[in-house]
Amino acid sequence: MSNGFADIILPVALAGSYTYGIPPGLHDQVQRGTLVTVPFGQSKSCMGLVVSTHNTQPTEFTPKEITGIIPLQTAINERLTEFLLWVSDYYMALPGEVVKAAIPSADDLVSRAVPRKKRNPRDSSEARVTLPAELNALQKEAFARIKEQFNDHGVVLLRGVTSSGKTEIYIHLIREQLAMGRQVLYMLPEIALTTQIIERLQKHFGDAIGVYHSRLTSASRQDVWRKAANGTLGAVLGVRSSLFLPFRDLGLIIVDEEHDSSYKQYDPAPRYHARDAAMMLSRIHGGVILLGSATPSVESYHNATSGRYGLVELDARYGDVKMPEMIVADTRSHGKKKKAVSHFSSRMLDAVGAALARGEQVILFQNRRGFSPYLMCSDCGWVPRCTNCSVSYTYHKSAGKMKCHYCGKSEALPGVCPECGSTALSTRGFGTEKIEEEIKLMFPSATVARMDQDTTKRRNAASRILSDFAAGATDILIGTQMISKGLDFEKLTVVGILDADSMLWFPDFRAFERSFQLIEQVSGRAGRRERRGTVIIQTADPSHLIIRQALKHDYKAMCSTQLEERELFGYPPFTKIIRIVVRHRDLDELNLSSARLAANLRRHLGKFVLGPEFPAVMQVQKWYIKTLLIKLGKELSASRVKEMIRKAMEAELKMPRKGMLRIHADVDPQ
Ligand SMILES: [Zn+2]
Ligand SMILES: [Zn+2]
Repeated sequence: MSNGFADIILPVALAGSYTYGIPPGLHDQVQRGTLVTVPFGQSKSCMGLVVSTHNTQPTEFTPKEITGIIPLQTAINERLTEFLLWVSDYYMALPGEVVKAAIPSADDLVSRAVPRKKRNPRDSSEARVTLPAELNALQKEAFARIKEQFNDHGVVLLRGVTSSGKTEIYIHLIREQLAMGRQVLYMLPEIALTTQIIERLQKHFGDAIGVYHSRLTSASRQDVWRKAANGTLGAVLGVRSSLFLPFRDLGLIIVDEEHDSSYKQYDPAPRYHARDAAMMLSRIHGGVILLGSATPSVESYHNATSGRYGLVELDARYGDVKMPEMIVADTRSHGKKKKAVSHFSSRMLDAVGAALARGEQVILFQNRRGFSPYLMCSDCGWVPRCTNCSVSYTYHKSAGKMKCHYCGKSEALPGVCPECGSTALSTRGFGTEKIEEEIKLMFPSATVARMDQDTTKRRNAASRILSDFAAGATDILIGTQMISKGLDFEKLTVVGILDADSMLWFPDFRAFERSFQLIEQVSGRAGRRERRGTVIIQTADPSHLIIRQALKHDYKAMCSTQLEERELFGYPPFTKIIRIVVRHRDLDELNLSSARLAANLRRHLGKFVLGPEFPAVMQVQKWYIKTLLIKLGKELSASRVKEMIRKAMEAELKMPRKGMLRIHADVDPQ
């Protein structure tokens, strides 16, 4: 007899699933993974995901009935359903939050009848396909080694220095999978990178490859969704959310730039890490996964050298292009010699001038957007701050405003200091906007462009900036870490890193690793063709270990010193971290709740619980924040600890209090 009831997850932030009746006409069609419409609350047709069917009549209420089925083409399959439930469990998110994040524009799927697409002759994947270029000897060897490693390992790490030709190797691997009739997911950390690489891939794979990210129109996203489900798309190039596409049979996942922190989702839930979650997705499909990077994360490299992952290393740049010459510019001595405040050392300016004179291009990297990170009254030291968040405003000169980078609030500049009435408000520090202004004054005949969050808000803005630079229409490109990745420019020979110190002294246990990776990645853009590139690093601490390791491009030394420290201080990969974030608008309530939660957790987990502590920014959008850190040694079972944390969080939320308390857990925070 067929089942009469279905347990359904709705895309709302409520715990658990809901039981609905299956009307007789739909019995054959409702199963685990089916997307259905159901009445819920005010809504007559809310989209839901069926996770199981059964014949157990609920005793406490009369279940409502399923009202419809979303056409089969958009159904989620069994494998994706399993994956979504795993994400919910592992990352301590509610199943409804995961469903909400995973299924695109649920309203559209429901309200708009899915148009039956006429078959377009151009949909044929045989059209306009060219064969990939031959691999050189080193690439061939790496290609063979990767496949050999896949015999014994589900995961292989490919560490290939910048410009070693990793993409060509990926193309050959994708081709093999498609020939076997399996699908491939090729993940990149940033949208700008996908638009750059997709043309290259379409040359080889035609319409068998699609691209997926949040800036696509809703219609295009649904198109990719359907084609991934029915198998017309053999390969998808996408950012982290592409993990949630309903692939039929994933043979291979490539996670390129695997060290990149953009793979981590911060807000809202699920707070997943796409690289790590991809491991589970790959296992569910019985496929393999290739991590690629010039500077792998310390964790991944540790896993590879200790034998958990396969490891393949490519140490030569493609076509024997030399690694760039690395120069340190000491900003201390430069500060002493010159009185005028300039953000550029003379070495930096000489190198930029020389490159421009030769008709070459320059990239200047500064990991702060805006004009200056803060303003200050020169007379009394008053600093304007956001009234919602405990951070100073960043000054944006072109907008003529001070903006909060945490909540987005903006305000006009005060005419006088509210503390002392002085009009001497001065800018402190420097962001990309200020660099742009100064460099234009110093090199008036050069064409200058800036690439950061502020200049790339509109669709295609990022790819236009990059294609202008690639075409030589721009001489100097200034940018944040958006410009550090994957890009290849023929005439780019000089790269300047303006403030290495602000990266090094960022308060995070990964700051040194991240600084090395950024320096190495940005440097990798220089001199990728005939002429050897030059990289100039400005720092007040030239003897810093990370700077010295970066000068020698010594990734392995960086990794081993960082691993020693991680082991000594008990950080990943030697421990597992769960961060618990507690928020309340009232400071006393927050202090009380977070202390009680900590005490409750300590009763079970003792010394593994650290905090509560105020984070560097202790108030955002009027919510005060405290965090608890749980560092799990290898001896504890992570799933049992998570269950304990879940219960403690629930208990705390039920305590009587004034106002609303919010708590969430962040598993493996980055
Ligand atoms: Zn003042
Ligand atoms: Zn704010």
